[in-house]
Amino acid sequence: MQSIHQPLVIGNWKMNPLTAREAKNIISAYKTVAKKYTSVAVVAAVPHIYIAECSKASIRGLVALGVQNMHHEPSGAYTGEISAPMCLEYGVSHVILGHSERRKAGETDIQVSEKVSAAIKNRVTPIVCVGESERDVQAAFYPYVAAQVLSALSKLPKARVKDVVIAYEPVWAIGTGVTPTLDEVREMRLFIYKILAETYGLAAAKSTRVIYGGSVNPGNAKILFTETQMNGFLVGGASLRAADFSQIVAAVAK
Ligand code: PEP
Repeated sequence: MQSIHQPLVIGNWKMNPLTAREAKNIISAYKTVAKKYTSVAVVAAVPHIYIAECSKASIRGLVALGVQNMHHEPSGAYTGEISAPMCLEYGVSHVILGHSERRKAGETDIQVSEKVSAAIKNRVTPIVCVGESERDVQAAFYPYVAAQVLSALSKLPKARVKDVVIAYEPVWAIGTGVTPTLDEVREMRLFIYKILAETYGLAAAKSTRVIYGGSVNPGNAKILFTETQMNGFLVGGASLRAADFSQIVAAVAK
């Protein structure tokens, strides 16, 4: 298990790239950057179809392999799904759960909580995405995010909360080039810390990683990291551009 003191950068490739050859090239670039910045935990969350290719190409322990969803059951009549034990077979150690693009397609808080529980039972690290669609002046987005966090963790024993990574991704910042202000990101980091501390105790809050996602790029990564107390980034668009991704990793390196 990674420590909260090690910055974490996860590339969410989404439904890209179009060919296995490109996937191989991107994972090679991840390897190069991970070798250079060993103080950073680098994860590639790839489409399921590229798991085998990327598993071959990635060096275990250097670039960790992730997927972008999985089913909560280990096997069975679930057409189109993959499970945690299948992921383990290919060295997949991380899974993004509850991404807003999946929630928009119908994934519910309950399903997210079942998947988080299945991932933890199988020792796959869940990256749980939470975040509001818009920021209202009454600040109702705070209880909204709190409810998402608490629901996602609701099926876990208290001692396992620290094994989850929470990714704060305001939906309005994803793929838009717009980011919250540094104060807004820092406040949300503290807010999530407070929820964890009140619900699971100080020790859990202190050791649970919270990362930021939403239009992170080489130009804003350094300041977003140094000024907000986030423990790393979930990167979408820029994760497919080797040079951009490398600069983001460099920005969080010690
Ligand atoms: C994402 O979809 O998880 C994401 C952070 O995307 P982007 O970096 O492109 O905003």
